[in-house]
Amino acid sequence: MRYSALSLAWNAITGHMSWTPAWRDAAPRESYDVVIIGGGGHGLATAYYLAKEHGITNVAVLEKSWIGSGNAGRNTTIIRSNYLLPRNILFYEWSMKLWEGLEQDLNYNTMVSQRGVLNLYHSDVQRDVFARRGNAMRLHGVDAELLNRDKVRALVPYLDFDNARFPIHGGLLQPRGGTARHDAVVWGYARAANALGVDIVQNCEVSGIRISNGRVAGLETTRGSIRADKVALAVAGNSSRLAAMAGLRLPIESHVMQAFVSEGVKPLIDHVITFGAGHFYISQSDKGGLVFGGDIDGYNSYAQRGNLPTVEDVCEGGMAVMPMIGRLRILRSWGGVVDMSMDGSPIIDHTPIDGLYLNAGWCYGGFKATPASGWCFAHLIARDEPHVVAAAYRLDRFATGHLIDEKGVGAQPNLH
Ligand SMILES: Cc1cc2nc3c(=O)[nH]c(=O)nc-3n(C[C@H](O)[C@H](O)[C@H](O)COP(=O)(O)OP(=O)(O)OC[C@H]3O[C@@H](n4cnc5c(N)ncnc54)[C@H](O)[C@@H]3O)c2cc1C
Repeated sequence: MRYSALSLAWNAITGHMSWTPAWRDAAPRESYDVVIIGGGGHGLATAYYLAKEHGITNVAVLEKSWIGSGNAGRNTTIIRSNYLLPRNILFYEWSMKLWEGLEQDLNYNTMVSQRGVLNLYHSDVQRDVFARRGNAMRLHGVDAELLNRDKVRALVPYLDFDNARFPIHGGLLQPRGGTARHDAVVWGYARAANALGVDIVQNCEVSGIRISNGRVAGLETTRGSIRADKVALAVAGNSSRLAAMAGLRLPIESHVMQAFVSEGVKPLIDHVITFGAGHFYISQSDKGGLVFGGDIDGYNSYAQRGNLPTVEDVCEGGMAVMPMIGRLRILRSWGGVVDMSMDGSPIIDHTPIDGLYLNAGWCYGGFKATPASGWCFAHLIARDEPHVVAAAYRLDRFATGHLIDEKGVGAQPNLH
């Protein structure tokens, strides 16, 4: 069923009785050409582009819970392509371009809102670092504006500019950055993939990966065995666990990251704003809640809940830059398990096992990557060669030393 103004009007006057389910809840079949493990944004986008761009439709997406129950439905929805390193700029800008056409492509309202992402700076050194990043972006045709203090004050007058400890000196703005509604992205890709013949199998946990003569042969799941020519891992914070089923040890650590939403208030914050003197970022949802978050919890965990010291740290960051939020009540907080790679950049690559592919290492920021990740992973699976914008995201770079260290923090981005 195609969504349009006409179908909306027709259903409104006929009592909303003719809407059909957005996707089929499929039962697993005995075999598939491609099985994707993980019904988050990345897994579903991969299935969609496999079907749409490569004509491969004998595909299943296996999800242990319900689709979007992982990080795809837990993130703070920021999309941007404001990177420094060329290999990251190319990839994330391709993602931004896909975001810009996503609603038309999927025929689904993913609520892409290009409200601008503003990174605040608080010292001359930080200004120079931001100027360098902005220049790198512009050299690659990406929008970036370095704003001085007066321009930032005109844009977001409610911030605390004169706080003696962290005075705001200016900001780097990416006007095309913004937000998209996370669960709508999941549902939109699921619906579009399903329409092209993909099976979306929920409540189906993968418990084993069968390998025969160095090649993947199939999977053991809580809903039986499944044969597959190709198996693709897109399980974010569970990547190490799944890879271990195939005897692989990944350069990934799993950490909890928390997020928070306040009670709803009138329109107040019309950008995404990040504090530059601590880890805190904030935006406002269409329902009025202020959505904010900060750093990962400091220790490894597979639990989808966080700890109180990190809550305190995030709230301190918020109070430092925007003291007015101290009067708001927090409505909800939650945690997701993020897959921290050891150079802060992702992996989209083959594994040493034939027919087994890996999509992982998204750290803090894989939501914005969802369209390009799906696009490039599908390309790799279909053609057995990397897509040009993701060619650097190799698994063996941790052995060869070709790291993509966006933040220049060395081999333990999880500790910074
Ligand atoms: C609090 C928080 C805030 C964030 N904010 C942002 C942001 O603002 N912008 C941004 O770009 N990124 C953000 N991220 C990161 C982003 O959400 C993730 O990088 C991205 O969602 C990961 O890809 P995914 O959507 O496919 O993962 P997921 O949605 O986690 O999908 C993986 C799926 O695999 C399933 N799975 C795991 N094991 C198995 C198994 N054995 N069998 C079957 N299925 C299995 C899981 O249930 C899960 O549904 C945030 C993350 C968190 C936690």
